[in-house]
Amino acid sequence: MSDVTPGPSPTYNAGMIQIVSSFNAVGSSIITNNLKSRLVLLFGSLTVALTVIIVAFTSSIATRELSERVGLKLQEASLQLRDKVEIQIAERYTDLAIAAKMAVSLVEKRSYAEMTGIIEEMKAGLSDYAWIGFVSLSGEVKASTGDLLLGADVSAQPWFQEALEGPYLGDIHKALLLEKLINPEGEEPLRFIDVSVPLLDSEAQMLGVMGAHLDLRWVQEMRRSLLDGLRNRLDVDLLIANAEGELILGPERLKSSDFLSSILKGAANDGSGYVKAALPDGTEQLVGYSQLRQDSRYDNLDWTVMVYQPATSAFTPVVDLRNAIILAGIGTAVFFCLLAWLAAHRVTRPLLKLAREAKALNQGRLRKSITLRRDFAEVETLTRALRSLVDGLMAKETELTSLNASLERRVDARTLELESVNSALMEEMQLRENLYKEREDLITKLEHSANTDWLTGVGNRRYLFEAGELALKRAIRHKRSLSLLIFDVDHFKTINDSHGHGAGDEALRHLMRLAREALRDIDLLARIGGEEFVAVLEDADESQAAKVAERLRLSVASSPLDTHGRRIGMTVSVGVATMVDCQARNLEVLLAQADKALYEAKQSGRNRVVQVSRCSGDA
Ligand code: GH3
Ligand code: MG
Ligand code: MG
Repeated sequence: MSDVTPGPSPTYNAGMIQIVSSFNAVGSSIITNNLKSRLVLLFGSLTVALTVIIVAFTSSIATRELSERVGLKLQEASLQLRDKVEIQIAERYTDLAIAAKMAVSLVEKRSYAEMTGIIEEMKAGLSDYAWIGFVSLSGEVKASTGDLLLGADVSAQPWFQEALEGPYLGDIHKALLLEKLINPEGEEPLRFIDVSVPLLDSEAQMLGVMGAHLDLRWVQEMRRSLLDGLRNRLDVDLLIANAEGELILGPERLKSSDFLSSILKGAANDGSGYVKAALPDGTEQLVGYSQLRQDSRYDNLDWTVMVYQPATSAFTPVVDLRNAIILAGIGTAVFFCLLAWLAAHRVTRPLLKLAREAKALNQGRLRKSITLRRDFAEVETLTRALRSLVDGLMAKETELTSLNASLERRVDARTLELESVNSALMEEMQLRENLYKEREDLITKLEHSANTDWLTGVGNRRYLFEAGELALKRAIRHKRSLSLLIFDVDHFKTINDSHGHGAGDEALRHLMRLAREALRDIDLLARIGGEEFVAVLEDADESQAAKVAERLRLSVASSPLDTHGRRIGMTVSVGVATMVDCQARNLEVLLAQADKALYEAKQSGRNRVVQVSRCSGDA
């Protein structure tokens, strides 16, 4: 028995893997991360995987079983066909042997015409004979069907020579001599097998040879008749070849093919069996084969009869079975997916309700606790646990809310307290600020009045010494000149006496207005005695000072005071001193010099300006 390698085809397995992987691909794309999809996918995948395993397993077993069964069936068919071939050949051989026996007496009588009649009859009775003839011992054809080769010398032909030794059955060969005579127009060369028997007389003396060429078309005929019955049940074909690989029956393309040689090798080993082999076009075939049995009459005819069927058609029941299992598998997968979906739906429904409640609680839309659910023991445990958790949290929340409220109240009270303290503090601060401002104002006023002459509003003696010293230092530092004027109202006593003390006061204020007009804004003006005044002129040299003094004198002299319908004229005498390098540079020195000049002005007639000459010291 030959080894057959059964099993599901690789294409099929690749197909299943593709289905599973595409199922998974689809699965992963529709999967959301929820229990329902996961369960459906799990059950679907499991069922598909199970189906794949069952299909692989059953296909493997069924294929093995079936190849054995089909193989045996094909082997059986080949055995039947072989028997028929053997019978056919044996019959032809027997025909010829009988004819030979009948021909013995005719040969002895040399009545070849009668012999021709017999063999013609024989040929007419069976179309398998292409040619029948009698050959004398010398090898000359003495009688033949259709008188073909009559008189020809066939002594060199193997069938003639072999028959001299005993009955002979020659293997397939082309018609060497008859070709042109029988089949002049034939496209395919005619092929024959030779049957020849010796003609022996009653004393076993050799008389000649009776030979026949069997046209192999009988094999074709046999093929038709044999296969017609088989083909209805099996998609089979038939091959007959000899040991050399020459085809007696079958397509030429299979001649010396691997397909043929592999089967013939098997046949040479075990005579009959079955094998799996591929045709040159690659299609797998299951082949049953049987060699012709050894027979003394035709021992050189080692033919093998082969019946083959495409593996695909041989395994059609396996494919049908597989398809049925796959269909059942798909159905089961759908069913289990549905079941899984329903189960998941039932399991997840209370959980989803719970989740919705929890969400509502979280968003504050729900003010009660979690509903107790008894769908499953686990769900009940879960809801109980959540319920106690939520209750605890709600109690804590209430506690916190009340704590918060009391805290807020305390904070409000404290804030009020702080606000009142703050406003009191602010008032206090405002008060302090006002007081401070008042004090500052007072100080300023005091400072002002301490430096100001109450009657005329110009600076007093104290102011002159403070501000005058500063102006002097500035002039020294910046190397600028500085002059000082002292002026005194001439005969003021007379004004007082004539017009009264009030008019005198008024005249002094009038004088200050005139002095302000005659001086620059930056020049200092101060009252140092009853009707005696000083002006300090920064950045004014001797000539400038002299001009200012003269302008003042003239202004006073030309501007009498009009008061209460009276016109009070007045003049002033002015002493002028300017700071120069050759003297000690301080205010007292300058005042003394100017005073001295004023004295001179008084002495020399009043209403005039006297300037201290430079570095004169006592001018
Ligand atoms: P002479 O030209 O020499 O300066 O003559 P005189 O009269 O101006 O000088 P005297 O010193 O003799 O007189 C000054 C007078 O000025 C005396 C005083 O009554 C008067 N007097 C001083 N202070 C004031 C004052 O504040 N108001 C008024 N109305 N008179 C004053
Ligand atoms: Mg005077
Ligand atoms: Mg005076």
